[in-house]
Amino acid sequence: MSKKTRKLSFDTDWKFSPALENTEYIDIKKRYGLFINGKFIPSKGKKFFDTINPANEDKIAEITDANSSDVSLAVQSARSAYEKVWSKMNPSERGKYIFRIARLIQERAREFAVIESLDGGKPIRESKQVDIPLASAHFFYYAGWADKLNYAFPGRSAHSLGVAGQIIPWNFPLLMAAWKIAPALATGNTVVLKPAETTPLTALKLAEIIQEADVPPGVVNIVTGGGATGRAIVKHPDIDKIAFTGSTEVGKYIMDVIAGSGKKYTLELGGKAANIIFEDAAINQAVEGIVDSIFFNQGHVCCAGSRLYVQESIAQEVIRKLKDRMETLVIGNPLDKNTDIGAINSKMQLEKICSYVDLGKSEGGAIHQSSCSLPEKGYWYPPTLFTDVSQSHRVVQEEIFGPVLAVQTFRTVDEVISKANNTPYGLSGGVWTEKGSKLFQVSKEIRAGVIWANSFNKFDPGSPFGGYKESGMGREGGVEGLYSYVGLD
Ligand code: NDP
Repeated sequence: MSKKTRKLSFDTDWKFSPALENTEYIDIKKRYGLFINGKFIPSKGKKFFDTINPANEDKIAEITDANSSDVSLAVQSARSAYEKVWSKMNPSERGKYIFRIARLIQERAREFAVIESLDGGKPIRESKQVDIPLASAHFFYYAGWADKLNYAFPGRSAHSLGVAGQIIPWNFPLLMAAWKIAPALATGNTVVLKPAETTPLTALKLAEIIQEADVPPGVVNIVTGGGATGRAIVKHPDIDKIAFTGSTEVGKYIMDVIAGSGKKYTLELGGKAANIIFEDAAINQAVEGIVDSIFFNQGHVCCAGSRLYVQESIAQEVIRKLKDRMETLVIGNPLDKNTDIGAINSKMQLEKICSYVDLGKSEGGAIHQSSCSLPEKGYWYPPTLFTDVSQSHRVVQEEIFGPVLAVQTFRTVDEVISKANNTPYGLSGGVWTEKGSKLFQVSKEIRAGVIWANSFNKFDPGSPFGGYKESGMGREGGVEGLYSYVGLD
């Protein structure tokens, strides 16, 4: 990153009057135990790690690093709750508990939004408008399915699987917990969930809600820790299903470990989505869509539109407008309501982004970065785009998971379809055109789980999400999201 961009602190570079979210009422404990069998308990191993605020590197709380005995205890508790209570409960009663969780998230939405932004670095506007409402909506949606499984699987009889081991990443911490827990509970399973090491707080806060909702002890267990804790879940013999969201590398590891074990699994992995702009698109809207597709959540989005394909006849105009728009993006304190782009989630992720950008330059790409200044402390990266890149460049092929866009041009529909499909991934895509027929043709031929038409990054609990190829297996969300938590007779 150039020195020029690393000079100012929060206090000196306000283009807008700061509108900071109040944090005084937020209650975060100094140290968190593991949530097992309905209670926060200490680990047998007595090991801890710090969770920090990536915007200023301040320590927020100490988190327990669960070892394999802790994981076993959590699995035992989930198994016992499954056999004695949850699988025997009337489905409509199960639904009531899930509705209660949804309502409690709504009631405490502001608190959750602030904690999500503190722990993960995302702008408070996004936590408030996207993460927390969608998490609550997911619980509402699956609560509704709990007593209607016969309608989800007409003519078949669905039964629960048992204990689900669920491992989630750091980019949408509460939302990913909701994506995992809600369908599992609605179908009568119990869970052991591990949040990511850098963003454990909202999952632990969710544990408080689970207590408040009087969910029977052991139905939801939350074990914090790093990769080793995740591995202990994956390898545990008494887990019936693994649900994982994260890197393709760890997804492949999980497939290797559980091969032949009979465990069911869903893997939601990486992506390198093509966002395609045709010359007949509404250009100003498309430029907003590009910004949303790659700079939302600092680009830490598996379905981010990190490859932009612009039809040659409009490329100059689109790139000029995009660069102008990048200049207006406000980067800074995630808790400020003016902020468009918050902090990079961790030092490790910042290093990964920097090394990819260096690679892009060394491969001959032309780089453009917004000229914003970045705070001195914390982890930050400016909105960045590469032009003069081709299909073989690594910044075009590999997932960077940061605010870095690779731009290419195309002339024909066939050309752009073949370029869009030239990737090991297949999670999402975007198509911008005024012509409905073109829209249907292109979206049908792109091999990806979700294609957005004249929009990007729109989510709904009723809509299935998931990938092809190295982007994973199975679907989450919608009726399809129920399939991977049931056996069918
Ligand atoms: P990981 O895949 O390593 O992490 C995802 C989750 O898996 C975390 O909870 C992690 O724990 C856990 N985990 C790590 N190793 C194992 C293992 N061997 N067995 C079981 N669980 C494990 O992603 P990273 O956080 O390391 O990010 C690396 C890259 O992955 C990113 O740069 C990005 O490209 C991609 N990624 C993709 C995501 C997506 O949604 N598709 C989400 C996150 C990352 P812990 O956090 O403690 O390491």
